[in-house]
Amino acid sequence: MTSTSPDTSVPASALDALKVVVGPTGYLQADSDTEPYRRSWRDGYMGRTPLVLRPKSTDEVSRLVKICADARVPIVPQGGNTGLTFGGQPHEDASEVVISTARMTTIRALDTANDTITVDAGVILKQVQEAASGANRLFPLSLGAEGSCQVGGNISTNAGGVQVLRYGNMRSLVLGLEAVLPDGRIWNGLRGLRKDNTGYDLKQLLIGGEGTLGIITGAVLRLFPKPTATETAWIAVESPAAAVALLGHMKAALGESISAFELIRRAIVDFLLQGVPGHTDPMTDVHPWYVLMDVSSQGAPGSLAGPLGDALGAALEQGLVLDAIIASSGAQAQKLWKMREDMAEAQKAAGGAISHDISVPVSKIAEFVAATDAALEKAYPGIRHCSFGHVGDGNLHFNPVRPLNWDAERFKAERPAINRIVHDQVMAFDGSISAEHGIGRMRLAENLHYKSDVELDFMRAIKVAMDPHNIMNPHKVFMPAKG
Ligand SMILES: Cc1cc2nc3c(=O)[nH]c(=O)nc-3n(C[C@H](O)[C@H](O)[C@H](O)COP(=O)(O)OP(=O)(O)OC[C@H]3O[C@@H](n4cnc5c(N)ncnc54)[C@H](O)[C@@H]3O)c2cc1C
Repeated sequence: MTSTSPDTSVPASALDALKVVVGPTGYLQADSDTEPYRRSWRDGYMGRTPLVLRPKSTDEVSRLVKICADARVPIVPQGGNTGLTFGGQPHEDASEVVISTARMTTIRALDTANDTITVDAGVILKQVQEAASGANRLFPLSLGAEGSCQVGGNISTNAGGVQVLRYGNMRSLVLGLEAVLPDGRIWNGLRGLRKDNTGYDLKQLLIGGEGTLGIITGAVLRLFPKPTATETAWIAVESPAAAVALLGHMKAALGESISAFELIRRAIVDFLLQGVPGHTDPMTDVHPWYVLMDVSSQGAPGSLAGPLGDALGAALEQGLVLDAIIASSGAQAQKLWKMREDMAEAQKAAGGAISHDISVPVSKIAEFVAATDAALEKAYPGIRHCSFGHVGDGNLHFNPVRPLNWDAERFKAERPAINRIVHDQVMAFDGSISAEHGIGRMRLAENLHYKSDVELDFMRAIKVAMDPHNIMNPHKVFMPAKG
């Protein structure tokens, strides 16, 4: 790598004008400086860009986008760059500038009477959680990258995580947005309203839009009462069917208090124990599948241990559960959750997986897993099954790991064929090929393959109406019609 910037089709006059807006400390140009903004978290994909811009305010973002719109310079918006589908990296042809929200970090307001927090797009998710907690509230979005991902990225990917079952995904946590539209105008929709029927709900277009319709600069987010009682259980089950039956049983017994219900295949526990230091098997016996479950409420600390124990006891009697542990301390609960958080690392340690972030109706999970396992085994004898995920939402990270006698390159070459086997099954079970990570560039071809013409036409019509020159993240999600 050189420390210079790459050859680019972006006119020098536009680059100069952009630099003036943010001033000397607000941009990066040398390849060595822009590298963290060009490299993807997953697989180390490396794009190229002539300029990374780091504006400090919505007004600066607006002025940057106006210059880009006038000069037809494509833009890649970027938050914490933890996305898993190559949505936030610039194209390798160096034709796009990156606009990062990393310096937009103000918590603008916290309204406990309205249960809302208003933040800049660049505020890190963990900081939102901490600010809410400091005001005796909960901001429930929770995911492995929460120490680095930003609110704008969370909104643009409609992030999910481990508490969707109870609180919904990012789409249900956003009440208002502020964004810079592709012509540079600022749209102020920062309303903290739970009811607003004054026409189309414009924010919903930007939520999950992956930066293709504008740059989110601020948001009003919902807060919830902070739980005072929490329990965590590690539960062994025979199969995904048993896990789904257990979920129904637990919902009937504990209702709304279930906040997380994660399904974990034994194989990934083995990968963790073998490849990631610091983990121990929570149980002495080995079981084929596990559920990691959280319950929480506003009751007295410890008040859920009894009801959870009773519900698990009844499940054991009914044969839904093989064994169960309720964490005896916060430290033990954290250790169990650390296993869940380290699963991406465990797959890497096992030799690399081909990832799929899929969802099917909860009622079809067991059939889907059985049919897809069988289809993969038929095509690739010796493939190692590895799946885990947010089964309470029908969302599985279905990530087969390479056969032991294959090298990494041979397995990687099969990625498109393996994707197609898994995604064909997903469609057969009325599912989605991207439950929470988005499409980005990684799933673009698959999205075009599976989306109906009607859906694609609708999406293209919206894109052309909002971004007629196709300057907002042009290579991502789908192929827009020429403006
Ligand atoms: C270890 C790990 C665990 C993860 N776990 C989960 C999980 O459980 N659930 C889940 O949903 N995701 C998960 N992810 C994926 C990722 O963290 C989320 O997608 C996150 O929401 C991305 O936020 P970000 O700020 O890093 O966005 P980036 O990666 O910077 O960008 C993601 C996309 O949003 C666009 N974008 C970013 N900011 C803006 C903005 N201000 N305006 C417009 N567009 C913008 C980008 O162009 C890109 O298309 C995980 C990732 C990692 C690395």
